Amino acid sequence: MPACTMDFPAIFLWILFAVLGACFGSFFNVLIYRMPRDMSLIKPGSHCPRCKHKIPLWQNIPVLGWLFLGGRCANCKETISIRYPIVEFLAMLLGFAAAFLTEPKAFQDANIIRCFCLFWLLVTLIPIFVIDFKHLLLPDTVTIGGILVGFTLSFFEGGIGWLSSLIGIAACGGGLFLFSVISSKILKKEGLGLGDVKLLAGFGAIMGAELAFTALIIGSMLALAVVVPFRFLTKRNMASPLPFGPFLGLAAPISYLLGETIIETYTGAIHKVFGFI
Ligand SMILES: [Zn+2]
Repeated sequence: MPACTMDFPAIFLWILFAVLGACFGSFFNVLIYRMPRDMSLIKPGSHCPRCKHKIPLWQNIPVLGWLFLGGRCANCKETISIRYPIVEFLAMLLGFAAAFLTEPKAFQDANIIRCFCLFWLLVTLIPIFVIDFKHLLLPDTVTIGGILVGFTLSFFEGGIGWLSSLIGIAACGGGLFLFSVISSKILKKEGLGLGDVKLLAGFGAIMGAELAFTALIIGSMLALAVVVPFRFLTKRNMASPLPFGPFLGLAAPISYLLGETIIETYTGAIHKVFGFI
């Protein structure tokens, strides 16, 4: 088939994943606002927090709705935070990045499943960063959601297979849970939160145990590289709780895209040094 006819669906898919990202961004705005306040994510529908005016569908279109309204409630003119279009725009860019990096050429392409996996890992970074940094919490929608999304996608052609996904969930969730229990007993203080355990279990479901554990190693290194100097500079107590979710979350797409190369490189290096693996 000539290249020009192959290009159209690819660009169409980039746009499609960007739009899907923007829709996820719109939902994340709801999640970021309501979850820490213990509010339902479904009821009531979108409304102005000041005058309770219901926001019609057209005003709820990601990014554009906010621009149409000039950043103010149509009824009481209360300012609508710029955080809303920023989150939606960022999610749109991440959706686009997922398609751009995995290069699915058509819906039947096996890469489409890889694209959905990367899409989930990238867009959920937004609620992970915002909510965990602010409230030291990881929403179940993202963590348990990741387990369900990963397990479901594993069944499709191009997925990792349901058995690998199941082993990923059990090994990563179980392994990190055990580590958390043992380390909190030894250190006599609460270690990792259950949210981190569920988040890693989700990564196990999406990319299998090996890549998810690689994400755990990368995430731990990122956390150390950022948190230790930060605490030293701000003279904060080293024992105060810190969010691990954002570092683990950031490590997941890195491991998903580059994990196999990283594993090959370090097993190759070990082999060179010791000559037995
Ligand atoms: Zn209003």
